[in-house]
Order: sequence, then C-alpha cells, then structure tokens
Amino acid sequence: MKLLILYIVALLPLVVHGQARSPAPSFAIDASFPGGNVLVARVDGDTIHLAPDKRDSMVPWFYWYFRVTGAAGRTLTFVFDKANIGVRGPGVSVDAGKSWKWLGADVVQDGTFSFAFPPKAHDVRFSVGMPYVQGDLDRCLQRHKGNPFLHLEQLTKTRKSREVPLIRVSDPAKKARYAIAITARHHCCEMMASYTLEGLMEGALADDAAGRWLREHAEFLFVPFMDVDGVEDGDQGKNRSPFDHNRDYATNVPRYPEVAALKERLPAWSAGRPMVFLDLHDPALRNDIHEVLHFLEPEDKIQAGRLDALCTHLEREQQGPILYRKSGNLRFGSGYNKITAQPAPISSGWARSLPNTLLGCTVEIPYANANGCEVNAESAREFGRDLAVTLMKFLQDQTGKTTDK
Ligand SMILES: [Zn+2]
Repeated sequence: MKLLILYIVALLPLVVHGQARSPAPSFAIDASFPGGNVLVARVDGDTIHLAPDKRDSMVPWFYWYFRVTGAAGRTLTFVFDKANIGVRGPGVSVDAGKSWKWLGADVVQDGTFSFAFPPKAHDVRFSVGMPYVQGDLDRCLQRHKGNPFLHLEQLTKTRKSREVPLIRVSDPAKKARYAIAITARHHCCEMMASYTLEGLMEGALADDAAGRWLREHAEFLFVPFMDVDGVEDGDQGKNRSPFDHNRDYATNVPRYPEVAALKERLPAWSAGRPMVFLDLHDPALRNDIHEVLHFLEPEDKIQAGRLDALCTHLEREQQGPILYRKSGNLRFGSGYNKITAQPAPISSGWARSLPNTLLGCTVEIPYANANGCEVNAESAREFGRDLAVTLMKFLQDQTGKTTDK
C-alpha cells in the first residue's frame, strides 16, 4: 500500500491581545488505508495542494482518495487541478468511508474546495468518487450471511497473494438453464460500478418475483474485483503499464492471474449453457458520453440485436432514479467503441467469442451524472436491481428461441 502521511503541527502559540493562546491543533492527511491514493504537493497554512498518484498508469488519470484526521472544528482548503474533480464535486465521508455524499459542484472553484470539519469529525475522507473496497463487499455479504443461494468462492490469488472473491448465486436444488456472469473493476479505480454489481447481486438474491424467477432459470457468477490488488492499493488501474487488466484477454498466457483464471473458469462453469456476460465500468469524469449511462454495442450483429432487446426492457422496466435511455448506447464504430482486434483484448469481446454466449457487453456507469440524474451509491445500486429485472425479461424472451449463435 502506498504510504503517505503528512503531519502538520502548529509549533508556535498564537498571540491574541497580548495573551498566549493554545497552538492550533495539528491535523494529518494520509492515504494509508484500503483504496488510498494522494500526493501532497505543498501546504500553505490551512491550504493543501494535492494531486492523484498516477503510479504505473501510462497516462494521467484522476483517481484520488485521502483521509484527514485531527481537523475537527477547522476549515481547510484543498487545491487540485480542476481536471481531477467530477461534475458534482468531490465525494466526502464523515464515517471513515462507509457512506458518501457529493459535496456539490457549487463548492468547487477551478479545482479548489474548502471544508468546514464538524466538531466531532475525527476521520473525514475525500475522494474523486465514492470508494468501494473489499471491506464494502464484506459488509454487503454480511447482510446476506446464511442465505442458501449465496456461495462464496475464490477465483484465484492475485500477484500480491490476495484472494480474488468469486460469488455464485444459484439454487443448489436446481440446474439452471442460463448462465449470467458479471465482472467489475478490470479498471480498479472505477468504483461506482461496484455499487451496481452489488445491486444486481441483491436483485438475484431477492425474495421477490424477479429473484425467484432468476434463481429458477439462471445461475449467476460475480467477480466483484478483477483487479483486487489495484482496488486495495488505490491504483488508477486504467492504462496500467504495459497494458491493463481489460487488455489482457487476447493472449493464451495472460499477464494477470485474475484474467487467466476467468478465461478458464467461465467456459467450465457455464458448461455450454446460454450465457450473458456483462463487464461493468465507469467512463471518464465529465462531458459527452461520460455523463450518459451506456452500453457498448457489440460488433457482432446478432449480439447487437440482443443488446437492443435487453435495453428495450431496461427502458421499460427501470424503477431507479437514474433515467436510462437506449439512445445513449455507444454504437459499434463510434466514439471509443472501435476495438476490432482479434482475438479480442477486452473481456466482453473475449466473452462474445465463446460459443455459448448470447450476449457479451461492456456497461459504463458514470461517476456522478447520468443523463442529468445523480449517480451515487444508492442510485447505482438501484440501477443494478433494475438490471436484474431486465435480465429476467430478456431471458424470458429467449425461452423457446434457438440458443445457437
Ligand atoms: Zn473501465
């Protein structure tokens, strides 16, 4: 873990009206916790100049996440390059990263924002987003402990020997006809996708009509963190040198053990059953397609048609606060959806090439603003629940159809 601690201590007592006053209390900024990432460039009194730590990414990226302790009752000002703060301002957490809210775009001026620390706020976190790490997944799984449909396994171990969790949702008494595989965090900084994965998983576990239908007909496989080391260490992950986890699928000998393990596990687990594969991502921070919730249309025309059918259901069935519109999808050949290399280097392209895949697709959940709707932990989760219902509708359409590609 990148360790960066900066202690700032007011050494000299202030003199007010000729009397010595207690020194201003010291505060500390650090990133030495799961997901932490920041570089402190300079401190001018109560103004701190910071930047994301790029680490091994080949181009600048915007992920940062730091903690301030010992600042209760003070007001501090934080200065970033404006490219590193999203459209609803920074994320802030006053409960050590368990819950988050956006500070708001109106408090940010050219990348600078101030924060008045509440009197009892001893651990305040700030981030470009709403960080989600292994501890958050553990809290989610704890809520469902003992659920007979939840099966916790391990995909493999990372290059740093961390366990890579794999979660199956299935009814042990049934052999489900369909397979649904969901991955996230191929780019480890893209944390908002994790809330959607959580919502989808909870939709699959739910004791409601959709949850029951799904477990009757489908088995789910979730890999919440395709780059566990990057998630826990707080790396950018995007454009990692020499290539990142989502550019590692073309070779027979993948660089990353998670990718190698998934390439083995997915065909074996799906065992020829018609499969839907969704890989969840977040785009860049602002503008254009980056503020639109969108699916990347496959090059394969048959699968593109199935995506259209899936998205028609999503438009009709959505209940959550994020308003999805099918017209926002990125057509193949437009924008950045142009990867034609074969074998496919990205996970969804690789999944599409499996003979039993009905649909393999990348989904992009914006960091903060989707079609004018606020993206936050809860709305991203609700989008996941909408996806669960949508998958049910999509698979109901498939019943009776040929499942050949
Ligand atoms: Zn991504």
